[in-house]
Amino acid sequence: PYWDTMSTPPAFSGYVQVRGAREHNLKDLSLRVPRDALVVFTGVSGSGKSSLAFGTLYAEAQRRYLESVSPYARRLFHQVGAPDVDAIEGLPPAVALQQQRGAPTARSSVGSVTTLSNLVRMLYSRAGVYPPGQDIIYAEGFSPNTPEGACPSCHGLGRVYEVTEASMVPDPSLTIRERAVAAWPQAWGGQNQRDILVSLGINVDVPWHTLPQDTRDWILFSDEQPVVPVYPGLTPDETRRAVNRGAEPGYMGTFSSARRHILHTFASTESASMKRRVQGYMVSAACPVCRGKRLRPDALAVTFAGYDIADFSRLPLKQVAALLRPYASGHEDGHAGLLEQRPEQALARQRVTADLVARLDVLLNLGLGYLQLERSTPTLSPGELQRLRLATQLYSNLFGVVYVLDEPSAGLHPADTEALLAALAGLKAAGNSLFVVEHDLDVVRRADWIVDVGPGAGEHGGEILYSGPPEGLRRVDGSRTAEYLFRTAPQPARHPRIPAGWLELHGVTRHNLQDLSARFPLGALTCVTGVSGSGKSSLVSLALAETLAAHFGQENTGQDRAPGAEEELGETPVAPSAARLGGDVAALTRLVQVNQKPIGRTPRSNMATYTGLFDHVRKLFAATPLARVRGYGAGRFSFNVKGGRCEHCQGEGWVMVELLFLPSVYAPCPVCHGARYNAATLEVQLRGRNVAEVLGMTVDAAWTFFKDDPAVFRSLDTLREVGLGYLRLGQPATELSGGEAQRIKLATELQRAGRGHTLYLLDEPTTGLHPADVERLARQLDRLVEAGHTVIAVEHDMQLVVGSDWVIDVGPGAGDEGGQLVAQGAPAQVAQARGSRTAPYLARALD
Ligand code: ADP
Ligand code: ADP
Ligand code: ZN
Ligand code: ZN
Repeated sequence: PYWDTMSTPPAFSGYVQVRGAREHNLKDLSLRVPRDALVVFTGVSGSGKSSLAFGTLYAEAQRRYLESVSPYARRLFHQVGAPDVDAIEGLPPAVALQQQRGAPTARSSVGSVTTLSNLVRMLYSRAGVYPPGQDIIYAEGFSPNTPEGACPSCHGLGRVYEVTEASMVPDPSLTIRERAVAAWPQAWGGQNQRDILVSLGINVDVPWHTLPQDTRDWILFSDEQPVVPVYPGLTPDETRRAVNRGAEPGYMGTFSSARRHILHTFASTESASMKRRVQGYMVSAACPVCRGKRLRPDALAVTFAGYDIADFSRLPLKQVAALLRPYASGHEDGHAGLLEQRPEQALARQRVTADLVARLDVLLNLGLGYLQLERSTPTLSPGELQRLRLATQLYSNLFGVVYVLDEPSAGLHPADTEALLAALAGLKAAGNSLFVVEHDLDVVRRADWIVDVGPGAGEHGGEILYSGPPEGLRRVDGSRTAEYLFRTAPQPARHPRIPAGWLELHGVTRHNLQDLSARFPLGALTCVTGVSGSGKSSLVSLALAETLAAHFGQENTGQDRAPGAEEELGETPVAPSAARLGGDVAALTRLVQVNQKPIGRTPRSNMATYTGLFDHVRKLFAATPLARVRGYGAGRFSFNVKGGRCEHCQGEGWVMVELLFLPSVYAPCPVCHGARYNAATLEVQLRGRNVAEVLGMTVDAAWTFFKDDPAVFRSLDTLREVGLGYLRLGQPATELSGGEAQRIKLATELQRAGRGHTLYLLDEPTTGLHPADVERLARQLDRLVEAGHTVIAVEHDMQLVVGSDWVIDVGPGAGDEGGQLVAQGAPAQVAQARGSRTAPYLARALD
């Protein structure tokens, strides 16, 4: 075994023994890893690290747990399949802290995922300052999500939707006949209302604003619904005479004010486009009763340290901790007095605040002090969310558990990574094991034990190159990890490019950025650095992206981490920043944002469909002799439309199985067994493979298979270049990590990159990449710049930063302590900058 080569065998309390692991690409692996230790799984992307750590070790721990609690789940595992492994011994129960794949859907906040909100409510309930005579409120009464706590006016939403004259009548110079009341239905419905007004004697042929105010108000806002005779086709004069005569009407019409129509349609329509149309006539405003604070007035009347609970939840966690600290230690003014008069209240206050401070300190140590309790989780990055979950584990005081983590350094500045390592050390010291999939060499260096998987990706990987204490990896030939971990030769010096011009951005006010100006070199690769929460994304992914998108008249593609998150939550829509562009903006012809948002939310979209390469594949199938004889067109080979697909699962290959009390699980379709197509379609073969088999190929395999089909080959070649050779063509979008999604978008863009001058905005493109893959990525980005384009990336990986032409360091700290441009210049210049937290790491990487 590997550890026999060590002079002194390390002392561990015990081992987890794995025999015969064959999940995905793993090649019948046997190994042992220590318990109560930090074990880091390394290897190039696609080598099989996750298949071992998550797919085998965690999956097995979870299977054992579920089997012990639910016979139903046990049955299901026979369908889904347990991990492919002969035996695992000595495995403790496991908790996985995985990066969120796909879009988060839960409506949660920092306070709720960390459970801190519960404690804060307890604090307000037991130790808040109540107005004289007011009864004590139970903790639930401070939650806008309970009937006890919710503001009765807005039902806890904080916002109300209302209609105004201006919102329903956008152009008051029009007459009613000219559809001044734009909010009324189009076509017949609107004409009907107009005819009703004619019967009611209202002048529909004068400009709206000349009508008396009370008439206008009645038309727009009345709750009355008079039923009146309608004479379609008659002029107003003829109608008046007909009404007076009591002539037989065409029909009886029911009046409905514009407001009634809007509110009714909004509440009851099932058509999304109808809903959107009427929403256009509504304005949303902070609820006048709770002023957007979502709670009932008597809950808001209770204060602590002068804040109501809503304002308290909007303070940065760092400030909350500072505010509570004196209470926690019993040193605040008035503690002695309260202890005398109301000892139980004084004690409750000290206990709850002490608990809160202890928990907040864990979050501050993980560099998350800039967040607020009320910040909604869909607006957080996956790395921030993972660290929040980690913090929750840290104070849950479990022991004897293995924590399985997926690249916890993602999104972390090297300075923040130190804090993360301290937190992991804390979990270990409490008697837990840590299995971490990680690329960051600073984390790898701290491991007690390294499992290096490789040597390559997919079928070229899946072997254990090394399993043992870090030092021993030095002697392992063929390990890409060893190459970088023990690299002594400095990176070759490079000369930053001379910019072809400058793009300027002025007056950026967004989150923690105040009236900031920045400039970005054109025809160059720029890295924007800074600690987590310093304002990098606010500057690049929001302000710059939106301002440029508006400039180009493109729909902005990079609003937030989860598309539509803010609207779904009914939150205050972000005011578009009023930043101004300057400098050589005219030189740019296009903006492309390559971010980590999922490429699709359903298993129906996958890499092959997203990149467009599947279109070519389907045409190749349609051109085969059998397809032509049977009259199958390219559409026959799509799993998204009727015809060629398996109708039982409608081309998904999976069916959802609902589990009582447990998350529902997908199981392979019993008809097509996951192939997604019906039998007749699968009879058509292209060079011996059917379409399902082609979707099952990895990019690498397909690259060989399609060598002579230029259109398909070109796509595959770029996918390989960005390090995705190990992915299967049909891998569902929902199984892809954010980093993989970003690289697929990048590959798609690389194929398109043509003439003109495109500005590419990237969001931590090295996420999920081994240093060897980072090198390849850097070459691709260089190629874009060589072709005359501009690349701006938010990035933490010093390997990429060192190789860039220009660095913009944002900071110096997070939240209120950040938001400034600390340093700008070539990497070597910024490495010397004083007061920059990036400089020391950059200097080290340049050595
Ligand atoms: P790493 O974590 O080292 O990047 P993975 O364990 O994710 O690598 O992948 C190893 C191999 O297993 C790759 O070839 C990948 O395409 C394949 N693979 C990953 N997930 C699945 C899956 N759900 N089904 C089939 N193959 C998979
Ligand atoms: P970085 O990209 O450097 O990690 P961000 O730009 O995400 O930093 O954050 C800068 C500051 O703005 C932080 O204090 C953060 O909490 C705040 N912030 C970022 N996004 C939002 C949001 N959607 N709502 C409220 N505050 C936000
Ligand atoms: Zn309200
Ligand atoms: Zn099926």
